[in-house]
Amino acid sequence: MSIDISANLNTIHQRIEQACSRCGRDPHQVELIAVSKKKPAELIAQAAQAGQRVFGESYVQEYVDKQQQLSTDIRWHFIGALQTNKVKYLHGSTELIHSVDRLSLAKEIDKQWRKIDKVANILIQVNIGNEASKAGVTPDAAETLIRAVAGLPNVHIQGLMALPPYADDVEQVRPWFRQLRQLAQNIDKLNLPQISMSTLSMGMSHDFEVAIEEGATLVRIGTAIFGERE
Ligand SMILES: *Cc1c(COP(=O)(O)O)cnc(C)c1O
Repeated sequence: MSIDISANLNTIHQRIEQACSRCGRDPHQVELIAVSKKKPAELIAQAAQAGQRVFGESYVQEYVDKQQQLSTDIRWHFIGALQTNKVKYLHGSTELIHSVDRLSLAKEIDKQWRKIDKVANILIQVNIGNEASKAGVTPDAAETLIRAVAGLPNVHIQGLMALPPYADDVEQVRPWFRQLRQLAQNIDKLNLPQISMSTLSMGMSHDFEVAIEEGATLVRIGTAIFGERE
């Protein structure tokens, strides 16, 4: 049986609305990023046909291939680990890079976007649970990194992203989402020039409702839309 992407998207939008109504938020403040990594372009086209506009990819080569295959009214986010030497392949086409976790990477993005006279929108990825296996700047080092990136003219920080520690019980994930929001609030209070903390990218198929209750403005959902990945 083939997967019904349109039905899955409808279900997720309903769940986003319900989560928003539980905590008194406007559903328009929460944007759904359809995470299409390891899924073929045909499924992205189906989702686009059903009204989905923003897609998130994690691997540079796959991302570039799909952009070439698909129509130009799709908006693309890059959410995966990014090697500095691959930044040049993204350049210009990416609405938001979620995964900036070191100054060398931010500097390379700045350099590539300067060449085309544009400003890259980025999020700082925070390793909110201090897990050895995960990318991201540690919460303690986030402010220093953000102050350094703030000086780069062709990069704009729009907020923070995190992949918190996994727990079967989503209530155990809630404190991590809350900590990311608090970190964003603390950084916002510093009033650093050129820095916005308005975007919080947090929440995936398993835990997006809790993330919304804790303030997520972008949720990154793959499996619940496209099914399990290989
Ligand atoms: C794969 C991935 C997701 C989507 O995860 P699902 O559990 O399939 O919803 C979200 N964020 C990042 C950074 C990912 O790599």
